[in-house]
Amino acid sequence: MMPVLLLVVTGLVWFSLRYAWWRPPVSYRYPRILMYHMVTAPRSGARFNGLRVAPRVFEKQLQWLAQHGWHSFTVSELVAQAGRLPEKSCAITFDDGYADNLLQALPLLKKYRCKATLYLVVERSGRDWSTQRKAHHNEGELKQEDKLSDAQVEEMLASGCIELGSHSMTHANFSRLEATAAGRELVDSRKALEDRFGVSVRSFAYPFGLYRPEQLALVEEAGYTSAVTTREGIENPGSWNPLELQRIKISGKDNWLAFLLRMRGGRRGLRQAGLW
Ligand SMILES: [Zn+2]
Repeated sequence: MMPVLLLVVTGLVWFSLRYAWWRPPVSYRYPRILMYHMVTAPRSGARFNGLRVAPRVFEKQLQWLAQHGWHSFTVSELVAQAGRLPEKSCAITFDDGYADNLLQALPLLKKYRCKATLYLVVERSGRDWSTQRKAHHNEGELKQEDKLSDAQVEEMLASGCIELGSHSMTHANFSRLEATAAGRELVDSRKALEDRFGVSVRSFAYPFGLYRPEQLALVEEAGYTSAVTTREGIENPGSWNPLELQRIKISGKDNWLAFLLRMRGGRRGLRQAGLW
């Protein structure tokens, strides 16, 4: 009897620490900004499966948002309307510019009438940006993934539900860039995207979520009114810094409960909160 009880108690403690289910939801007046990369089936043995959300899972998430009364905005709309957002506002974001964003995600976004902000790397083909952070992980896995061609980006923009944002020229690691180089990445990518696609680009996503505090001024000078990080969380739009927005990481490795808890609390559990 005792071993069984011990097992049950251990299981409950593990479950609680993993999911932190007892935490109350963060106010639904605070918008949720969801971070996605690829919408595609995970590949067996691949290192970056966290970045791959299966299309059927993505659809289930959009269906849940629609059924539970969430209002969809682009990131620029969220920031512009910060003081008068309805309860349950959300923004879907895609980083990098994978071809599946058009082939898999766009039809579902249309089906559920959702908007999204696409953070595009200008020089996105033939680059292995997974290696820029840790040089020893030279596997080329993300390099082999199909990226959106310019024509495919146009197709996405023509849908009317996509905002185009910049994710820099080269997916550079900003924590290692001098002011001049950082400024160039910011200004050149905005201009290149605006010239190529004929839309206004006002939102930026820091590659790898990395930047230095003094670079915020450069982001603003370059003409951006918002910028998203990879820090996990849900913020009060009355006091957030629009140039350092936190997001909810939607991972292909998460189960359904983890998704629901992230939508409630921004992070999955104590581990993500740095307490464990
Ligand atoms: Zn990226």
